[in-house]
Amino acid sequence: MGDLEAQSGWGFETRAIHVGQDPDPTTGAVVTPITLSTTFAQSSVGEHKGFEYSRSGNPTRSALEACVASLENAKHGLAFASGLAAEDNVLRLLPPGGRVLLGNDAYGGTFRLIAKVWSPLGFPWSAVDLTDVASLRANWPSDTTIVWLETPTNPLLTCIDIAAVAEVAHANGAIVVVDNTFATPYLQQPLDHGADIVVHSATKYLGGHSDVVGGFLALNDDSLAERLRYTQNAAGGVPAPFDCYLVLRGVKTLALRMERHCSNARAVVDLLLGHPAVDRVLYPQLPDHPGHAAAAKQMNDFGGMVSFTLKGGIEAALTVAKSTRIFTLAESLGAVESLIEHPGRMTHASAAGSPLQVPDSLVRLSVGVESAHDLCEDLRTALDRLS
Ligand code: PLP
Repeated sequence: MGDLEAQSGWGFETRAIHVGQDPDPTTGAVVTPITLSTTFAQSSVGEHKGFEYSRSGNPTRSALEACVASLENAKHGLAFASGLAAEDNVLRLLPPGGRVLLGNDAYGGTFRLIAKVWSPLGFPWSAVDLTDVASLRANWPSDTTIVWLETPTNPLLTCIDIAAVAEVAHANGAIVVVDNTFATPYLQQPLDHGADIVVHSATKYLGGHSDVVGGFLALNDDSLAERLRYTQNAAGGVPAPFDCYLVLRGVKTLALRMERHCSNARAVVDLLLGHPAVDRVLYPQLPDHPGHAAAAKQMNDFGGMVSFTLKGGIEAALTVAKSTRIFTLAESLGAVESLIEHPGRMTHASAAGSPLQVPDSLVRLSVGVESAHDLCEDLRTALDRLS
């Protein structure tokens, strides 16, 4: 690997393409090789070139871990087989009876993992409004070990002031985990604002092409990193080398893609704001958006995700979701192609009846990198069907 100290001075775009990705010393290959070998030769017992067995460490995975850690301004990076595998690895830090405070808007799968898998094992959880830091401070449950937040949240795109939450959590001896999937490190680096661990579903913007499932953790604390790396190997939720290669390839264009995601999202927001069938547009750049001030403070731009509610309620939402042609009706987000979905019936169905339930007139868009004009025409045509 190259000189990480020198590389840390490089710009984001340069680090995305070069950190962890020096030309292969044996062949000169410019692209990081996909090392499929599950085991690595030892010259004598315990003497090897840094790799023993591929669950414990793999060269393609190491390249990805070095690269994304650098993008998050983190000392340590750990790659996983999925975002939820990464999250599960973090939850294994909980001491017996340790509580998780989860923001009251979050990905349904995160809610399911915390509330339905971990909680029955004796780890309590509560949903809290993390935009209200005064209330968080006043009503702090003493058994809290982890505060878990997304910003922007999925699917309401509420933004949380990471530094303010970290200040309360640290004063009470808890750690702060920030799911940075929606913002990506190009738009927001949570560790710089006091977060302890950053989580990613690499399936989304990091991979960027809807062709790989992956997860990632980034952090600075050496002892937490040691514990997480121990569990990564002990529990074994690691990604395949080919998947690591795909994420690494996606990350090379992250900056370019995010610029276009953001500008296309702005065009879509303008269209939605002017359409009579739309009730409310949720986008962090809008001055009346919950957490707009936090977003303006901690993000470089406002992202490619846009949500909106419709005056015609659930029927209107379901009609729009099936009426677009370029926006494909599908789960997931963060890739080059635009997607549309109904969170209440799709990504957040598991949160029905919980404090994280979402409005049924809500539609969520992952605005891709196609022509902004075509995306707006597609949406306008679908919305016009409601009148
Ligand atoms: N975090 C967020 C914000 C997500 O949207 C998702 C998946 O949609 C996840 C985590 C889980 O990631 P994965 O599907 O890669 O397991």
